[in-house]
Amino acid sequence: MSATVVVAGAGLAGLAAAWELSRAGANVALLDAERRPGGMVVTERPGGPGGPGGKDGFVVEGGPDGFLAAEPDIQELARDAGIGGRLVDQLASGSSLWTGQRLEPLAEGQAAALLGIQIPSDVGAQHAAPLQFGFRSFATGMLDLVEALVARLAPVFRPAQGVTGLAPATRGWRLSLNGGSTVEAEAVILALPAWAAARLVTGAGVPAARHLDDVIYYPSTTCPRQSGGKVGPRCAPARTPGSSIRVARRPVTP
Ligand SMILES: Cc1cc2nc3c(=O)[nH]c(=O)nc-3n(C[C@H](O)[C@H](O)[C@H](O)COP(=O)(O)OP(=O)(O)OC[C@H]3O[C@@H](n4cnc5c(N)ncnc54)[C@H](O)[C@@H]3O)c2cc1C
Repeated sequence: MSATVVVAGAGLAGLAAAWELSRAGANVALLDAERRPGGMVVTERPGGPGGPGGKDGFVVEGGPDGFLAAEPDIQELARDAGIGGRLVDQLASGSSLWTGQRLEPLAEGQAAALLGIQIPSDVGAQHAAPLQFGFRSFATGMLDLVEALVARLAPVFRPAQGVTGLAPATRGWRLSLNGGSTVEAEAVILALPAWAAARLVTGAGVPAARHLDDVIYYPSTTCPRQSGGKVGPRCAPARTPGSSIRVARRPVTP
């Protein structure tokens, strides 16, 4: 296999990079270690008749459940990928605290304080404004965007092709893949978790890249909640510092 540009990692960052490059006419290969593209985007659409997000189904997000409505880039990407009509607005807001036994509603701003998100008291209106527009998502979850991009990148997407090594080559870079094969490229984009990029770039002779390994990843727990506030018995959140409870919502007709 050879390509002008290899994008390693088919999460949202890698998908967006591969999409932009292929639209610009580059010879791209998009590799991911997993069979499933999307990385941290994990949308489940359980229960509905007629398939994903069916009439009585729910959308449960195990990863990101939206983005700032004031953030134009992801919406532009969605329109380019042909799913602009699936963008939906936030319909409800509010956060609750899991006490270990029940969910207790939190006042506005309390969740951010508990999570250690610091909003400076002296921010001007121009910086506060993005939050005031709320969040947006897609009609049947964030996976809508992943699916649209993967459909368009199908000819160049190579699942289950983890990059295990990176080394300079005569005309760019040589990547070793799990299974023993190699690929050469003039340029490489590493759209990987920081720890994975640390290993590859350090191995390519850049010792300072080991500091990428200092990035801390906290675990989180996704726990569908029914409208009465009950948390399903199979979903007791793990007692880890980064745990959170995500709320299931019904799919929205755009
Ligand atoms: C629970 C949770 C909730 C979140 N909520 C929000 C939110 O509401 N709004 C928001 O904007 N953001 C949110 N985020 C953050 C957002 O999900 C991430 O910032 C974003 O999805 C990261 O995308 P990425 O492409 O950079 O990385 P990832 O999604 O991590 O993708 C990296 C990809 O690289 C692949 N990979 C790893 N190693 C290799 C290798 N050696 N070779 C090839 N491929 C490899 C992985 O399989 C993966 O597919 C949330 C994250 C989590 C976990």
